[in-house]
Amino acid sequence: MYIAPLLPVSHHSTNALSYLPNYTFGNILAMRSRSLCMPTNSSFRIYHLEVNVFPQDLYLIVTTGIATPRVPTFPGVELSEGYEDLSMDQEEFEGQSVLILGRGNSAFETADHIIANTNVIHMMARSRVRLAWATHYVGDLRAVNNGLLDTYQLKSLDGILEGDVREMMLLKSPDGKIVLDIDNTLKFKAPAHMTNDSNQDVEYIIPDNFPLRESYDRVIRCLGFQFDFSIFENDTAPEASYSGKYPNIKPDYGAEGIPGMYFAGTNSHSLDFRKSAGGFIHGFRYTARALHHILEYRNHQVPWPSVKQPITGLLDHIIKRMNEASGIYQMFVVLGDVIILHGNGLDYEYLEEFPLKMVHRLPEMTGRSGSQYIIISMEYGKHFSGPGEDIFRSERATGDPQEAHVSNFLHPVLYYYKTLPTEDQMMNLPIDEILPTPDALHHIVEDFLTDWTAPIR
Ligand SMILES: Cc1cc2nc3c(=O)[nH]c(=O)nc-3n(C[C@H](O)[C@H](O)[C@H](O)COP(=O)(O)OP(=O)(O)OC[C@H]3O[C@@H](n4cnc5c(N)ncnc54)[C@H](O)[C@@H]3O)c2cc1C
Repeated sequence: MYIAPLLPVSHHSTNALSYLPNYTFGNILAMRSRSLCMPTNSSFRIYHLEVNVFPQDLYLIVTTGIATPRVPTFPGVELSEGYEDLSMDQEEFEGQSVLILGRGNSAFETADHIIANTNVIHMMARSRVRLAWATHYVGDLRAVNNGLLDTYQLKSLDGILEGDVREMMLLKSPDGKIVLDIDNTLKFKAPAHMTNDSNQDVEYIIPDNFPLRESYDRVIRCLGFQFDFSIFENDTAPEASYSGKYPNIKPDYGAEGIPGMYFAGTNSHSLDFRKSAGGFIHGFRYTARALHHILEYRNHQVPWPSVKQPITGLLDHIIKRMNEASGIYQMFVVLGDVIILHGNGLDYEYLEEFPLKMVHRLPEMTGRSGSQYIIISMEYGKHFSGPGEDIFRSERATGDPQEAHVSNFLHPVLYYYKTLPTEDQMMNLPIDEILPTPDALHHIVEDFLTDWTAPIR
């Protein structure tokens, strides 16, 4: 198996070191298989294979991240500059009026960095502000970056407004500043086609009360990053999802339609975009490990690791995992523990951190099966998290086990199935359901200390 570039899977340094011999860089990949890829000075490119299929014994795990800046197309885009090229020298922003396009962490981080120097900062994006503590999605705006919300709402200094950058145009004004038009708000005295030339001095009238009527010294794009599809040649390029942000992959991390090609790291986040933590190190270190187990069974017939115990140990085992397991906690609703109950009822088998989307394929993915199943997933309450949700409302939490099913904060949920869910059930899951309706469902009441160790009475 070849992996390029190097991905340390474990957060424990000793384990990371033990992984090293198993990994190899793109140039070694090229030497081993000239038909597949060719190194350039600083990177590699993957060329198509004769039949658009990787050989049975060759696997490629792509871990090239999400690093290509998203640059939209609109007239005058060349007057803007990208966050990725921005000077860190705050004095360069002294007294300037700045328009930031975008509303994610990079936009707010940029604003925070220059706010003490600027005259004014306006921020424009298509969607409303999504606060990470309200959505429980760490890719949304972290409180540590949100200083601009204060200067907007408390000081009437800076401002945030909604608009789609694809509907806008930038023009250079006669004094060298940058003027913005959106939704054809400016009234042009010249023919409309002139507006495509942003450097031409065109005459326009700015309507009263147009919020963006002041010109800017700088327009900074903070519109996020996307996967670099140019590393692939022709037929080996995977399909794109989320408007080109991610490669389209299946729940086993394989490229849709390209056998042998897998994805790990932040570029596998299409599977849980805006749902869980698979786009971030603290999340994808567990999904990368899941991919390792999948391939280990598929290629080397090594079953998914499990612990087999007498049934009398099950309760303690579940309580220990609920309290200590990091993978199902960080990758909530995506990875779950699976308990297999065997027909004799005397023992159980415990599998950790299995991708829930593939639970109907458990035997074929893990080499493990039984007669009944319990699945443990960590979940927030339905409709609790979301942009604009009042997650500080009174009565947001309960401590009553009778009300465990209305728990809002992250808490363990146990699904019991007499037989595994079917593919049909999995494919037709309602959008807000994690797993198909089980034969029995048990919520464990949320706990302020996320500590589920009280003695059993
Ligand atoms: C400001 C900021 C703060 C963050 N904070 C956190 C945090 O607190 N916690 C957290 O978990 N995550 C955080 N993240 C996210 C986290 O950093 C990324 O998710 C993570 O680095 C992605 O790792 P990766 O290995 O998938 O990709 P990358 O780290 O992007 O690695 C990709 C590698 O592939 C190489 N590569 C790309 N193309 C080619 C090519 N053609 N040929 C050869 N090599 C190539 C690159 O050089 C790079 O070495 C943060 C990100 C940012 C930007």
